[in-house]
Amino acid sequence: MSRVHNFSAGPCTLPLEILEETQKEFLDFAGNGMSIIEDSHRGSSYMKIQQDALASFRRLADVPDDFAILFLQGGATLQFAQTAMNLLSSDEKAGYVNTGVWGQKALEDASRVANIYEAWSGKDKGFTTTPDDNEIELQQDTKWLHITSNETIGGIRFGNMPEVDVPLVADMSSDFLSRKIDWEKFDLVYGGAQKNLGPAGLAIVIARRETLNKHGRDLPTYLDYQFHDKSDSLGNTPPMFSIYVMGKVLNWMESNGGVDEFERRADIRSSLLYDVIDNSEGWYSSPVEAKSRSLMNVIFHLPDETLEKQFIEEAANIDLINLKGHRNVGGVRASLYNAMPIESVETLTDFMKNFSQNNR
Ligand SMILES: *Cc1c(COP(=O)(O)O)cnc(C)c1O
Repeated sequence: MSRVHNFSAGPCTLPLEILEETQKEFLDFAGNGMSIIEDSHRGSSYMKIQQDALASFRRLADVPDDFAILFLQGGATLQFAQTAMNLLSSDEKAGYVNTGVWGQKALEDASRVANIYEAWSGKDKGFTTTPDDNEIELQQDTKWLHITSNETIGGIRFGNMPEVDVPLVADMSSDFLSRKIDWEKFDLVYGGAQKNLGPAGLAIVIARRETLNKHGRDLPTYLDYQFHDKSDSLGNTPPMFSIYVMGKVLNWMESNGGVDEFERRADIRSSLLYDVIDNSEGWYSSPVEAKSRSLMNVIFHLPDETLEKQFIEEAANIDLINLKGHRNVGGVRASLYNAMPIESVETLTDFMKNFSQNNR
C-alpha cells in the first residue's frame, strides 16, 4: 500500500490507524453481524457512538454545560443562513466581518433570511489580512458579530479573536479544535467536519442555549436548532457514518494530548513552511500580512506561474499532492489540518529547498 502526503484543503487527511480500524469493523460492527451503517440509529450500538462523540467533543473543546452541541447535515454552508434564522428575530440585526470567500458567502446567505450588515471588509487589501478591533464598525443595537476564524482560501486567520462589545458567532470550519475557544466571547461556533475532524456530511454547531428560543420565527423542523438540541441530534436520522468516524478522530485527539497539543503541532507545521518562505530571499513569497498568517492553510507564490506549475508537478511526482492554490488566489496552498503528520511537512520543506536551489 502506498499513501500520499495529502495537502488537500478539504476533505482532509485522516489518521491511518483510524482508517484501518474503520475498515476492520466495517462488515461486522461489535459482533452485531452487520455494519454500523446498516444498524438502527436508535439501536444501542449507534446510540453509544453518538453519546460518546458528543461527550468527547464537549471535553476536547471544553464546552460549558449551558452550550448545546448539535450534529447537523448541510455542511458549514447551510449554517450561513441557519445561524442567522435562529439567532435573530425579525427586528434584530447582526454585523458580519468580510475576510474573504467564506466570510462573503456567510454574509450573502445570512442577508437572504435576516437583517445583517457588513461591519468590515478586507476587499481593498485583497483579503490578505484581518481587521484590528477598532476597525470593526458595529452599528447600534447589533446583536452579535459574525467572523470566519480561518479563511481557508485566502490563508488568513484571526490570531486573536476580536474584542468587541457584542458576542461573536464564528465559522471555524478550517481551524476547528486546532485552537482553544474562549466560550465567554461566543454565542455560537460552527463548522463542517471534513477539514479538521472527519469525513464530510456533518456540521457541528455549538450554541449558547439561552439564545436558541428567542427567534420568534416559524422555522421548518430541521432548521430550528431547538429540535436538534432536545433530541441530542437524534430527532431525525443523523449522518451516522460521519459521526462514527469523527468519534474515532476525537478519541484519537484526546489520547494524543487534546487541543493544546494540536495547537502546538499546528504551530510547528506552519512555522516549518513559513520559515522556508521567509528565508528564501523573496523567491518564495507569502501574500498574507504577517499577523494574520493561517496555521492551517499556508499560501505562497514562486517567481512566476510557469515555475509554480512545475513546482506542483514535481511535488506530485514524489507523492506531495493537492498543492495547487485555489483558482481565486493562484500559487501554492498547503493545508495542514490536525491529522497531517509533521514528517509530511518536512518532506515538503525539503522539496521546497531543493526546488529553489535547482531553479534559481
Ligand atoms: C470548507 C469551508 C466551508 C464550506 O463547508 P461545507 O461543509 O462544504 O459547506 C465554509 N467555511 C469555511 C471556512 C470553510 O473552510
